[in-house]
Amino acid sequence: MKKERDMIHRAMIWGFVVSFFCLLAINHIFSAEVSMKSKNDETSTTPIVSIIPKPARISFGDGFFTIKPDTIIMADEEVQKEAEYLAGVLQPAMGLGFALKVQLRENMQETNNSIILKIDPLLNALGDEGYKMSVSSERVIISGAKPAGVFYGCQTLRQMMPIENFGDKKAEGVDWKVPCAEIEDQPRFEWRGQLFDCCRHFFSVDTVKRAIDLLALHKMNRLHWHLTEDQGWRVEIKKYPKLTEVGAWRIENDGSRYGGFYTQKEMREIVEYASARHIMVVPEIEMPGHSTAALASYPHLGCTGGPYKVANSWGVFTDVYCAGNEDVFRFIEDVLTEVLDIFHSPYIHIGGDECPKDAWKKCSKCQARIQAENLKDEHELQSYFIKRIDKFLTGKGRRLIGWDEILEGGLSPNAVVQSWRGIKGGIESARQSHDVIMSPTTHCYLDYDYTSISVEKSYLFEPVPSELTEKESRHILGLEGNIWAERVSNQDRLDFQLYPRLTALSEVGWSPKAARDWNDFDVRLNTHLKRLELLGVKYGKDEMGPILQDAQLLGHWSANQMKMEGVELEWDATPFIKDAGKYHVIFFYKKGASALQIEWAALLENGKEIQRDTHQGWSGAVKRDIVFTFLLPERAAGAAYAIRAFGIPQGDEDSNGDVLIKFDE
Ligand SMILES: [Zn+2]
Repeated sequence: MKKERDMIHRAMIWGFVVSFFCLLAINHIFSAEVSMKSKNDETSTTPIVSIIPKPARISFGDGFFTIKPDTIIMADEEVQKEAEYLAGVLQPAMGLGFALKVQLRENMQETNNSIILKIDPLLNALGDEGYKMSVSSERVIISGAKPAGVFYGCQTLRQMMPIENFGDKKAEGVDWKVPCAEIEDQPRFEWRGQLFDCCRHFFSVDTVKRAIDLLALHKMNRLHWHLTEDQGWRVEIKKYPKLTEVGAWRIENDGSRYGGFYTQKEMREIVEYASARHIMVVPEIEMPGHSTAALASYPHLGCTGGPYKVANSWGVFTDVYCAGNEDVFRFIEDVLTEVLDIFHSPYIHIGGDECPKDAWKKCSKCQARIQAENLKDEHELQSYFIKRIDKFLTGKGRRLIGWDEILEGGLSPNAVVQSWRGIKGGIESARQSHDVIMSPTTHCYLDYDYTSISVEKSYLFEPVPSELTEKESRHILGLEGNIWAERVSNQDRLDFQLYPRLTALSEVGWSPKAARDWNDFDVRLNTHLKRLELLGVKYGKDEMGPILQDAQLLGHWSANQMKMEGVELEWDATPFIKDAGKYHVIFFYKKGASALQIEWAALLENGKEIQRDTHQGWSGAVKRDIVFTFLLPERAAGAAYAIRAFGIPQGDEDSNGDVLIKFDE
């Protein structure tokens, strides 16, 4: 998948949030919030109810239910675990001496001063994940046909309580009030997921569990766990120990060793942890491409026999599994057999994307396979590869998921396609009656910067393309927000990239299409961000902002200046160069089909170059290293200054942007 990193720009978004918040306090977009507010006197501490994702149906009544130290959680046996979960998450903030008791409910008694969790088969129409919630001044009742629904009702309850309940320390002086309400809620899509790449960078078991907790908070139900890559193999496979002895580790350019893997015990623990939060863990074992780490461990699985080394740079690599070698299929089936034993998800992701055919073209075994199977070319060989694995998984009662490249060459009807190169693959798949998961780079690639995918852009994503008929659109299972980890090396960065864009996608996945409204969401998000703060989530803030702040417009570049071989451009900087000191020049792409790659930028004094910053900057929708810096030792009186730069448009000449300059003392 495409994985570029960039800088972040949220200043505008935040201006928007603030101004809209003021507007909305007067203007009632979420009428229920406003009516609640008007009913309370000035001294009331009741917060505006900001539930994300927005429930399908909600109406507020008068008054409140107050959770007191002697309030009891009562639960049906089937939802005892959900009751324990609720008590557990409320415990830290509500404090000791405020223990919520889990009791098995007897004879359907609905006693006062209690939070009642129950299974109600009559709610079947709301589906397995739907729930009904009734808050009166006497009690709270959360019911669902299945435990998952009750679990989501508990998440809603938390969001109706004062936000302090999300803290990890006892909150003092909080009146734990829940506004009276009637809610009937169910998700729009059955597949609401996050792809988590733990290969480019390795994340601890605790970080994975934390990611699961955050998904649960957002009523999301799939963790698509990317576990094998060119840069690291992360799954312990007992039959092939070298995969983790060799394949889990890479030597970085500075000579350090980087890596890690999950033991089978740890992965089972994660599966169980997720399952308790109604989240299915779907493992991704990549093939036939993105397999360098496996080849480094067992070189005979590649076309040339190696040697190979675990990749320590990013990109698409030409060494892939040999499609002509039976050992490869034996190996993959052995690996998958152990994987199936750990992950009980009905779905197994096998990647299938970005597989260059270079090695296959030169390999006698691959060519022999093409002959023997009467295949047209290497693309059909890829299709042969995927179909064989598809057959294997189907035979084991599982369903194969692959990136949209797997469409090429036909598939079993059972296979699910994940559309990433836009939504075209999704449309085509649905028309061929394949189930589809939508995660186009345009809205769902959360490793991209906020300038290319803003929170609003994620929010405005519509997973069901208008081109599809009603029948075809039933094949859209839902969506995923993807986090590729080339440039996400730690938990803070992970938080930053994911949230609040995944929060936005959670509403896309859950709430009825007609109920979605960006302005309304934006207001609720304001409260939700405070919850995330209390949970210690370092959500996305303006990274580009500080550098862009106070920057002045030096000039532009535009499509009519571009040449494919590269172009030298110059801007008069005299009016901006007032003193000796440090100057930053920022190349900020605005629009067009192509990015501009800046090779170098220079500072000129009276037409003579006095300094040059040579590094590669990428300025497109994705932006990387676009700031060039100069140190002017002395401002020569009466001198003319200019900035000159050399850039190469990428792919096409259609690139347009602003050049900004900023004095930094
Ligand atoms: Zn081969």
